[in-house]
Amino acid sequence: MGQTTEKPPLRVLLANPRGFCAGVDRAVETVERALAMHGAPVYVRHEIVHNARVCDGLRAKGAVFVEELDEVPAGSTVVFSAHGVARRVEEEAADAGHEVIDATCPLVARVHIGGRRYVADGRHLILIGHRGHAEVEGTLGQIDGPVSVVANRAEVEALDFPPDARMAYVTQTTLSVSDTEGIIDAIMARWPDTQGPDTRDICFATHNRQQAVRDLASEADLVIVVGARNSSNSNRLVEIAEGEGCRAFLLPTPEELSKDQLDGVGCLVVTAGASAPEILVRETLARLAGWHDVTVEERDGVREDVTFRLPREVEDDYPPSRLAVGVK
Ligand code: SF4
Repeated sequence: MGQTTEKPPLRVLLANPRGFCAGVDRAVETVERALAMHGAPVYVRHEIVHNARVCDGLRAKGAVFVEELDEVPAGSTVVFSAHGVARRVEEEAADAGHEVIDATCPLVARVHIGGRRYVADGRHLILIGHRGHAEVEGTLGQIDGPVSVVANRAEVEALDFPPDARMAYVTQTTLSVSDTEGIIDAIMARWPDTQGPDTRDICFATHNRQQAVRDLASEADLVIVVGARNSSNSNRLVEIAEGEGCRAFLLPTPEELSKDQLDGVGCLVVTAGASAPEILVRETLARLAGWHDVTVEERDGVREDVTFRLPREVEDDYPPSRLAVGVK
């Protein structure tokens, strides 16, 4: 009697949209263009996006990632990451004579502008976000005056301002929509004279990826989010799936997926955070197919046709984009 080689069936629902957003596309292309125009090395302050595969690919082409500018020789070409930087960093770069190419996502820059406007209007600003995250640290450093950072309702309750204080809030772009609404409600309940952005600062890409997971989680036994451990928006996708009652985990690299994580799973959702390239999704599917007879269903979702203009320093002298923008 020979051994059976039949693999158990597995339905895979591919969420849409998933993976790279317009801001990440822009940031990666900015570094590639900077390398083509200036040659290596091009210094990049902070991981250009929170994904090791993306950063390793750029490193192989000559990008050098640094956390602070004191690691960069004077007069270098420096790219600021999509997360944005504090004004202090901009000033340091100017003092050192660096050629700066700012790949801060325009939606992050919009938060900076909004925050400055509220502070100039004499309001105390609350930044809803996670202290220590690169975007939050950059936003704090772009706004003159004290800013309170809160990540949950309890931290709102702990703030010490009188009920008639003039308050305002902005948010990190990659939070969970529902968590943020609860925090905003808590702020408004304590300080009725609070202003916030007309449209929430949570960006369209974050919102769309979260909605896609919310729509699919109830159909599946498991949600796999391809994304780095330090990727805020990827972590929020895991939380959203769990909030829908579905088991979920983050998968930083396809190699970390093990067969026993699929025990009892007949249907799973695969999605990817805004900084995770599609190749990681494809490799994850290939790994699943090694153990299971996989049927893949590419699910419809919101089509994203947003593109951001490249930083002007890299707009010309380079072939048109080789990086598709939008739904992948
Ligand atoms: Fe910009 Fe949103 Fe992408 Fe962040 S997730 S880089 S804010 S488009």
